Amino acid sequence: MDVAQFKEFADASLDFIADYCENIRQLPVLPNVEPGYLSREFPQTAPQKGESWKHIMEDINTSIVPGLTQWHSPYFHAFFPTGQSYPAIIGELFMAGIGAVASNWESSPAVVELEVRVMDWLAKILGLPEEFLNSSDGPGGGVIQTAASESTLVGLLVGKHRKLQEVKSSNPNLQDCGILGKLVAYTSKESNSSVEKSGIIASVKMKLLPTDADGSLRGSVLEEAIRKDKEDGLIPCCVVASLGTTGTCAFDNIEELGKICQRENMWLHIDAAYAGTALSCPEYRYLLNGIEYVDSFNFNAHKWFLVNGDCSALWFRNTKQVEDAFKLKNIVDLPQFLPELEHWQIPDHRRFRALKLWFVIRIYGVQGIQKHVRHHISLAKHFRSLVESDLRFEVITSNLGVICFKLRQSEAVTQRILENIAKRRKIYIMPYYYKKQLLFRFVICSRFITVEDVECSWREISSQTSEVLKTLEEA
Ligand SMILES: *Cc1c(COP(=O)(O)O)cnc(C)c1O
Repeated sequence: MDVAQFKEFADASLDFIADYCENIRQLPVLPNVEPGYLSREFPQTAPQKGESWKHIMEDINTSIVPGLTQWHSPYFHAFFPTGQSYPAIIGELFMAGIGAVASNWESSPAVVELEVRVMDWLAKILGLPEEFLNSSDGPGGGVIQTAASESTLVGLLVGKHRKLQEVKSSNPNLQDCGILGKLVAYTSKESNSSVEKSGIIASVKMKLLPTDADGSLRGSVLEEAIRKDKEDGLIPCCVVASLGTTGTCAFDNIEELGKICQRENMWLHIDAAYAGTALSCPEYRYLLNGIEYVDSFNFNAHKWFLVNGDCSALWFRNTKQVEDAFKLKNIVDLPQFLPELEHWQIPDHRRFRALKLWFVIRIYGVQGIQKHVRHHISLAKHFRSLVESDLRFEVITSNLGVICFKLRQSEAVTQRILENIAKRRKIYIMPYYYKKQLLFRFVICSRFITVEDVECSWREISSQTSEVLKTLEEA
């Protein structure tokens, strides 16, 4: 491909992307394809001769788009929002075009320095304490990771290392293997499945503790679990607390958990993957109560913060402890620039992801981000009032953009309604089992969503409920 063809392809691609975004409301939110559809349409082997980009564009329209779930459709209410915005798309383009990666400062100064700066911007936007900033006098700092899952793993691994060192220093006769097998970490039953998985990867037993009536992990439950485990000779090393669980967006009690972590010298990692974005608005900063006990704090800018994936922000109170765990001891050259972000992550290099954050923050401005968050939350409140006005339903939880509600009728009826809604493919909502109840889980996701869209989605749920109830009465 020469530069002239590149420009043609790029122009056509930008047209495609702009049309795709602006017309997304018209596309069915769920595709109508059978498993394996693509392998029947595409050849089994790669082309021998290069093809024209125009052929690829045709296939995009005829084979790719029909198999897409429209994550940015205003009728997409499943999972969580996934980040996408025009500035972030251009950021991705620049990232690919420049094509730089960085490990240390020398490998690409702008990549490292922009990341250091925008991570501080971001920390200030969320209202994190000064100690977490790269520019603070102390050892705090932030770096962009690939995913919330990876950030949890990093937090857990550092917590594991810190506890190992602590136990060894007070019991010099103990072998590493004797200590490692006894380490235990805690999270709640409501935490994301990636937390349990991080325990498997890190070889640390991850205990899933029960939550209170609001889905929150409380200090007394942690206290009791630690007491029992210590009696059994285990060594507690880490707590992964959720600010905004994936199911109902419940908030663990950081203050209660934090006091215990401090006393036990356990690492406290916060997974605020979705809800962290709400901290951009000062009215939600109360969620940070207890942050003074937190060792690592993570949120996904690639969820609600309008940045395309991947872009997961992770801050540490003390990056020296991270370097203690991850930095190779035989590196002797004097650092040319601090902080050394390359030692706070698993991969060797980082892509220039800071560009996406920089573009989004500069083009939206803090006020633009706040407007986006408040718009979504006000739509969630509106949806909640629609559910509440229908006596067939009961709202069970409602936090930020996530509303979980149930039908007062039997769960079998709920199942039928969900099946019908899925078959019609007009909206995408998911069931969620919470405290032994089958709920409808409805999330405000798309950046294009309007109040009319929310009402339209509600009409679909309400009318399908009427349909199912009618057929049951007739039967
Ligand atoms: C989405 C989510 C995750 C997983 O995020 P990835 O970036 O895909 O790893 C983890 N925790 C919570 C609370 C989430 O909502």
